[in-house]
Amino acid sequence: MVTEVFTRKYCDPHAVRDEKVEATEVVQFAWEGTVREVDACAECKKEYETRFEPLVDYSRPVKKRRASKPKAEESAAKAQDAENESANA
Ligand SMILES: [Zn+2]
Repeated sequence: MVTEVFTRKYCDPHAVRDEKVEATEVVQFAWEGTVREVDACAECKKEYETRFEPLVDYSRPVKKRRASKPKAEESAAKAQDAENESANA
């Protein structure tokens, strides 16, 4: 059985206005010390680049791309993260 894994992304800034615009860009920005990202169309990306927009609570923390990584490697990476965090504290 073949499962469709491709999910179409929609522009987040447009989505909050109930408009479905396909997202072709990802906008990244710093938010309270972490890098976050939103999906955006080219139009919105331009808008983000020209001004700082604080109304981005629909954003999410940037996740590491999971590209069919073995489980072991993934948990090793998590342990590494924890190590880094305690080192920073
Ligand atoms: Zn947009």
